[in-house]
Amino acid sequence: MSLITHAEIVARRKLAPLPPGWIVSAWKPSGRDGILVCGGVPRAVPLWGSLSGKLFEGEPQSVLVSYEEIRAESRRFEAATGKCGDCLGSGRATTQERRGRTPRQCACPRCAGTRRAPVTHPEQAHAG
Ligand SMILES: [Zn+2]
Repeated sequence: MSLITHAEIVARRKLAPLPPGWIVSAWKPSGRDGILVCGGVPRAVPLWGSLSGKLFEGEPQSVLVSYEEIRAESRRFEAATGKCGDCLGSGRATTQERRGRTPRQCACPRCAGTRRAPVTHPEQAHAG
């Protein structure tokens, strides 16, 4: 599930108004509460020779996005676009095998690769 994609949208809404150029710099699961999203405005800094790096100005902003908020955003995405909220309309998902280290592409389990948001209302399931 594209948790972080939805989490970033919720984080941006919670932290709004954000300055131009604001990007997510880090995120991590925060126990069972949700995902802690951190971000800031990066500034390019010259390093040695041709190397350059990025620094984040000021204090990084962080906000906790709960899984409930992520689910709500996924439902809002599906209602607005008609696309599957788990794979964002790609029809694919990445699975990590327990013993293998290589992620594998497979059909999205929520939409079965159809890319469309599944019908969630039971009364509509019989209509088609
Ligand atoms: Zn899907």
